[in-house]
Amino acid sequence: MDDKIVLEDDLGNLRRSHYSFEISRKNVNEEVVVVGWISSKRDHGNVLFLQLRDQFGEVQIVVKKKETSLQLFKTLRNLKEHSSLAITGVVVEQKNSSSQIEILPKEIKILSISNKPPPFLTQAISSIGIDTRLDLRAIDLRRNYLQFVFKIRNTIINSIREYFNENYFIEVNTPKMIATATEGGAALFPIFYYDREAFLAQSPQLYKEQLTMAFESVFEIAPIFRAEPSRTNRHLSEAISIDAEKAYVDYRDMMEHLEKLIRHIVNRINSKNANELENLGIKLPNVSGSFPRITYTELINNLQANHKFIRWGDDISPKILKDIFSDEFFFITDWPASMKPFYVKSITPGNAQKESAIDEKNLLSESFDLMFGGLELSSGSTRINNKDLLIENMKKKGLNSTAFDYHLRVFDYAMPPHAGFGLGLERLVMALLKLENIRDATFYPRDIDRLTP
Ligand code: ATP
Ligand code: MG
Repeated sequence: MDDKIVLEDDLGNLRRSHYSFEISRKNVNEEVVVVGWISSKRDHGNVLFLQLRDQFGEVQIVVKKKETSLQLFKTLRNLKEHSSLAITGVVVEQKNSSSQIEILPKEIKILSISNKPPPFLTQAISSIGIDTRLDLRAIDLRRNYLQFVFKIRNTIINSIREYFNENYFIEVNTPKMIATATEGGAALFPIFYYDREAFLAQSPQLYKEQLTMAFESVFEIAPIFRAEPSRTNRHLSEAISIDAEKAYVDYRDMMEHLEKLIRHIVNRINSKNANELENLGIKLPNVSGSFPRITYTELINNLQANHKFIRWGDDISPKILKDIFSDEFFFITDWPASMKPFYVKSITPGNAQKESAIDEKNLLSESFDLMFGGLELSSGSTRINNKDLLIENMKKKGLNSTAFDYHLRVFDYAMPPHAGFGLGLERLVMALLKLENIRDATFYPRDIDRLTP
C-alpha cells in the first residue's frame, strides 16, 4: 500500500483505559486501550516491536504479521517514529521487559502520522546542536533527558508553592506592563501601550514591596524580562523569577527563608523524582547543614591573595568563584551599597557616632546573593522603608524620583520595614541538574538571537 494515502483516524469516542505505568503483570489477559506516540521501532521481518510512549513512560506493542491484516502490517512497518497511535489490545506476560508485560494489538488506530524522519529520536542523547533542537522544541522536549528535567522542574514549582503556603506567604501577581524602569539602566524592552511608551517588567520589585503593606508576606512566580545584550549560558531575555517579600523582617530572616526553601525543594525532588534523578545520573547536593556565609569584603580580601588585580567594589567573575566553591550553595553578604539598586538598605556603620567617618564609597548594604559554585541564583536585601531616604538614594543612583511618584506615594502611609529576594527558577534548575545551558531549563527560550518558536 502506498504510504501517502494512509488516512489518519479520528479519535472519536475512543479513550485510553490505562497509562503505561498503570499496566503490570496483574493486568495479564485484560483488554486495554493505550494511546501515545512511537518512540522507537524494531522490525524483525514477521514481527514488529513498537515502543508506545505516553506522558509517563513506554509500553511495548508486538505486531505479528500473521495476526494482522497485510495492509495494516505494511502501514505500521512504514510508519515513522513520533507517529501517534491508539491501540486496543490484550496484555501478555513478557519476562524480558522491565515492565514484564507487552501488548498484542486487536485494533490499531493511526491518529497522526509523522511525515518526516525525526532529526533526533526520543531515546538519543542528542549530539545535535542546540539551535536545531530549539527550532523543533516541542519534539526535542519528547526526549527522555528533557522529560526528566521538566518533571523535576514541575516538582520544584509545586514545592515552592508548598513552602510559601506553609509559611503564610500569599501568592500575588504584579503587572508585567509598567510605566517606569524598576532599577533604571538600559536592560528593558520598550513596548507600545496604547499611545504611550511602556516597558516589560524586569522585576516585580516595587509592587511586591508595596504589597507587604497590605498582606505582609507575599510571593510571586512569574516572568521577568531583561534585554540582555550578551550571549551567555546563564542569561535569558525572559526568565521565571520566584520573588518573596516580607514585612517586619530583615535580610538575615530572608536568608533563613531562602535556605529553608532550597532545603524543602531538594528534599521534595529526592522523594518524588528518585527515578528521574537516577536516569539523569544526578545526585542532588547535600543541603542538610546551613549554607556558608561570607561577606563581600572577606571574600575580596581572600581573593586578593591569588588575584592581585581584584579590588573592593569589583564584581566577582563566576569563573573565579567556581574554582573556590565548586558545587555548593553559599551566601555572599553585605555588598557595597554602590553595587546594589536604590531600594536596598545600607548598613549603618558601627562608628556612626562620628558622622565624618562614614565614607560614602565604603558604605555596605544589608544584602546577599545566594550562589551555587560560580552561578548567582538569587539576590536579596533589606529594603529602604523611609521615603526621604529612598528619594535620596534614587538621586545618588542618577534616577529621576518624579518618575516613581506612583510608588513613593504609598510611603506616606507607613511602609513597614521589609526584606525580600528574587530567585531565578531556570538558574536553580541549572544548578541542581548540572545543565550546561540555561536554555534547556525553559520550554521556549528567548535570547538576543531567538524570538521563535
Ligand atoms: P546576573 O548578575 O547573573 O546577570 P543579576 O544580578 O542581574 O544577575 P538580579 O537582578 O539580582 O540578577 O535578579 C535576581 C535573580 O534573577 C538572579 O540571581 C538570577 O537568578 C535571575 N536572573 C536575573 N536575570 C536573569 C536572566 N537574564 N536570565 C535568567 N535568570 C536571571
Ligand atoms: Mg543579582
